[in-house]
Amino acid sequence: SKERGKNEFTFYNAELNSYMKRKMEMENHLKKAIDKNQFSLVYQPKVNFLTNKIVGMEALLRWEHPEYGLVSPAEFIPIAEETGQIEAIGKWVLETACKQNKSWQNQGFPPLSVSVNVSVLQFQNGKFLKTVKSVLEESKLDAQFLELEITESIMQNIRESKDILTHLKALGVKISIDDFGTGYSSLHILSKLPIDTIKIDKSFIDELDQLDRSPIIKAIIDLSLNLNLSIVAEGIETENQLAFLQESGCMIGQGYLFSKPLKTNEFEQLIKING
Ligand code: C2E
Ligand code: CA
Ligand code: CA
Ligand code: CA
Repeated sequence: SKERGKNEFTFYNAELNSYMKRKMEMENHLKKAIDKNQFSLVYQPKVNFLTNKIVGMEALLRWEHPEYGLVSPAEFIPIAEETGQIEAIGKWVLETACKQNKSWQNQGFPPLSVSVNVSVLQFQNGKFLKTVKSVLEESKLDAQFLELEITESIMQNIRESKDILTHLKALGVKISIDDFGTGYSSLHILSKLPIDTIKIDKSFIDELDQLDRSPIIKAIIDLSLNLNLSIVAEGIETENQLAFLQESGCMIGQGYLFSKPLKTNEFEQLIKING
């Protein structure tokens, strides 16, 4: 009826309003988050299945707000992208991860590679290469110990992406394709761009326990081996998944089976005994 339609509209409007309100508030809080020291990085170990040693770590961003509590990057990264704040936040992440990694090396831990997630918008803003160069210089981290995780969406602007990637590779930085297989250009990316690593997305690993999607994962692993690319699996939670990956020739991965992302001091404890 007409009345019901009106109520639904009012309801929808109220919902939309509160959504917009939270988004706008969050946007304002995000602006101050760096200065107020509300960001931190957690580190999730990447493990070699054969040796059980840690071979690297992924830096993951955390935002602890006094009012909201811990906000998921899945919620605030898209907002930061929309507002352009991703540039400053991304730079903060890069600086913090490189400095921390260098500090661990200075403390005498075996050198590890740190992986940093890079938003496509951050990657294609024209300043990215300069930022990476200056962060490496300031932190004094050797470029070989930095890996950038980028998604397949960089294919939207393939010429520009290729140019930036070529320069990054010349610096010695490693390039990883994150969430591999979930975008539209998975195969294209391999033939067009200079990359080092493929990261199999968690969604594929999850399916190992339910459907028989194993032929697809096997094919991705074979592909990477044939192309001489490193292969890393993410989101490993069960022994079953681990066994399958190992049998298929994937030897490096991360996931709750090994460790959740850890705070700086926790990660340090781990590499003290694992290094
Ligand atoms: P991602 O890059 O695909 O990262 C993997 C996500 O899976 C992380 O969630 C990680 O904590 C989680 N994870 C790892 N192992 C397991 C597991 O065994 N089981 C389950 N259920 N989850 C696991 P997180 O930290 O919430 O990050 C979500 C996404 O936010 C990331 O997905 C990435 O796309 C983005 N993100 C995080 N930090 C940054 C950053 O510094 N910059 C940018 N641009 N994006 C970031
Ligand atoms: Ca990632
Ligand atoms: Ca993923
Ligand atoms: Ca991702």
